[in-house]
Amino acid sequence: MPRFSGNTVIITGSSNGIGRSAALLFAQDGANVTITGRNTERLEETRQLILKSGVSESHLNSVVADVTTSDGQDLLVKSTLDKFGKIHILVNNAGAAIPDPNGVFGTDQGVDIYHKTMHLNLQAVIEMTRKVKPHLMETKGEIVNVSSIVAGPQASPKSIYYATAKAALEQYTRSTAIDLIQHGIRVNLVRPGIVETGFMTAMGMPDEGAKKCYNFLADRKECIPVGVAGKPEDIANIILFLADRKLSSYIIGQSIVADGGSTLVMGMQSHNMMDIFKS
Ligand code: NDP
Repeated sequence: MPRFSGNTVIITGSSNGIGRSAALLFAQDGANVTITGRNTERLEETRQLILKSGVSESHLNSVVADVTTSDGQDLLVKSTLDKFGKIHILVNNAGAAIPDPNGVFGTDQGVDIYHKTMHLNLQAVIEMTRKVKPHLMETKGEIVNVSSIVAGPQASPKSIYYATAKAALEQYTRSTAIDLIQHGIRVNLVRPGIVETGFMTAMGMPDEGAKKCYNFLADRKECIPVGVAGKPEDIANIILFLADRKLSSYIIGQSIVADGGSTLVMGMQSHNMMDIFKS
């Protein structure tokens, strides 16, 4: 029997990237899946991808919703319960580094950008967790949050608010994990490095610019030691692992880093000390 057979999963941000890949893997592994995002066309692409992989329509619930709105969150929960009856797994994946329309970065970014960034990357997770909690208490379910290596401990001066939101999400994950384990709910987190998705396009970068950027980073061992940008399934597989109680039951409130080695590299290591001595 497929390992998630009879389980129902809500995956926010599944109209693209990591969430889309996780939705496909969960559905192929027997789960009922609620897929969602704001973009109708991209969400339909996810739906078609899953259907074409042989999954029956009866295992899919496709919901166009903005996860930062209370109505959108309620719709996600209600439509999932209406179609599948229960919720076993919540994947809080939707997220983005929201660019400042004035093209500025760091401390020059406006406070409105701070609010939008925190709303999507942190508050929406908090609200979804609160709304799904009673249903996960019933099923002794799982929550998997998606953070980023920008959470630290290294600095992220170009995207301060995004990094701040993800760092807060990590503390929220640890604390909710301990709060909710008394109800049988496990909470964990995956922390991706550079992954080829729609992330940069969502920041306003054209597709070819994004590709150039992934290649640039992959070509430099001080950026991505493994020499290649991550694929959505590299992260999606970890999400499934953390949602699979048979495999990961003793992991509580932890974060798994998947970054091709990026966060293990220190700037000074990119220079050869012997060359400096000799010069
Ligand atoms: P994508 O841009 O490919 O996917 C982001 C998803 O989030 C889309 O489905 C998008 O849907 C959805 N989303 C964004 N805003 C909203 C909103 N207000 N309401 C509902 N859905 C929303 O990026 P990734 O797959 O890369 O991002 C997934 C997660 O991974 C994010 O949390 C991101 O921070 C994290 N991450 C990504 C990294 C990377 O290098 N790609 C690195 C580290 C972390 P739509 O546009 O249809 O609303």
